[in-house]
Amino acid sequence: MDLTYTPEEEEFRARLRAWLAGVLPALPPKPSPDDWPARRAYDLGWQRRLYDAGYAGLHWPVDAGGRGATPTQHLIYLEETEKAGAPYVGANFVGLLHAGPTIASEGSAEQRARWLPPVLRGEEVWCQGFSEPGAGSDLAALRTRAWRDGDDYVVSGSKIWTSHAEVADWCELLVRTDPGARKHRGITWLAMPMDAPGITVRPLRTLAGSTEFAEVFLDEVRVPVANRVGAENDGWRVTMVTLSYERGTAFVGEVVACRRVLAEVAREARKNGRWDDVVLRRRLGRLNAEFRALWRLTQWNVSEAQGTGGVPGVGGSVFKLGYSHARQELFDAAAEVLGPEALDLGREWTLDRLSSLSYTIAAGTSQIQRNIVAERILGLPRGR
Ligand SMILES: Cc1cc2nc3c(=O)[nH]c(=O)nc-3n(C[C@H](O)[C@H](O)[C@H](O)COP(=O)(O)OP(=O)(O)OC[C@H]3O[C@@H](n4cnc5c(N)ncnc54)[C@H](O)[C@@H]3O)c2cc1C
Repeated sequence: MDLTYTPEEEEFRARLRAWLAGVLPALPPKPSPDDWPARRAYDLGWQRRLYDAGYAGLHWPVDAGGRGATPTQHLIYLEETEKAGAPYVGANFVGLLHAGPTIASEGSAEQRARWLPPVLRGEEVWCQGFSEPGAGSDLAALRTRAWRDGDDYVVSGSKIWTSHAEVADWCELLVRTDPGARKHRGITWLAMPMDAPGITVRPLRTLAGSTEFAEVFLDEVRVPVANRVGAENDGWRVTMVTLSYERGTAFVGEVVACRRVLAEVAREARKNGRWDDVVLRRRLGRLNAEFRALWRLTQWNVSEAQGTGGVPGVGGSVFKLGYSHARQELFDAAAEVLGPEALDLGREWTLDRLSSLSYTIAAGTSQIQRNIVAERILGLPRGR
């Protein structure tokens, strides 16, 4: 484990920093959180710029359309883009951060060639159809059925909390292909085209006012067998790869963004007099230490992942647990600094505070992360 950066890595950082300084000032303003088609166009536009400049899929393998850079370079990329305030991945979250990496490590050569380049070029958006009304934390309880009919699977069932389903082209979908098998055994991972007949997307409005996620109903949707990633009924193993990317790397860049917000909160407190409150100052100091520790933990996780072909290990659950709580505390502290202004939905940080509540649920709840840490890192006996 080596947490220092090499001269080549520092040179990469300097080039990226210079590029960001050149392009960011000319970017158009971000569309409203309500207008998903406009946000899709904005997010994909930014992705295309990254692609044209050679910064897309940095750590993806070269034969998957990526640059084959080291995980450390990817970390530098995340650090610098967040520090500079570059656009968030947004609608590209699933494609770039977990469906894409899953296909890169588990898909066939044809599947990699079909699905990965359009993600990197900012041409196609993915969503994740894992959760169902009766299968969230207990994901293996999923009931959406798929049966073979010639060269297709025919899929019926429903999914919930599907982020970006409204604007997605593809869905990483979990289905039950063997209802007679033990529940983790009969699952298959499919890439479903979102324009297939039989799919109904019903957007759900969140506390923060956005229709970021949706219910998805599937009525005899035909998905080619060729769209299966991994073997039939081996979908649970493929899913563990997806979830390890989702928990291990997908939120990493946001730690840097939180450190930037924390500095702004401290500046605001100095301006409006709240800084004189010693309890608040201590709280901000503790948060600063927390985010620094999370960044170090990330570096450690990345360094460990270099030895396992880049797939993040269970350290991702420690990160996800700590990060989602620190993020909530940050925006709670921001609200304390703002005082009554924090009730104004138009005020910066107010919507972030509302959405921060979801981070301890999305990608696996904190209770589930604690179970994983207890069983798989600490080796404690299973509670169930
Ligand atoms: C913003 C957001 C975006 C999301 N996007 C997607 C998406 O794109 N695609 C997708 O498929 N899903 C998505 N989800 C769903 C998310 O993965 C689930 O909400 C999550 O896994 C929890 O499942 P659940 O809501 O069914 O809660 P439940 O599983 O019903 O859990 C309820 C409570 O019981 C606790 N609990 C359950 N089992 C245990 C246990 N064994 N031990 C201890 N405590 C337990 C949980 O921790 C939780 O506190 C999203 C969720 C959010 C909030």
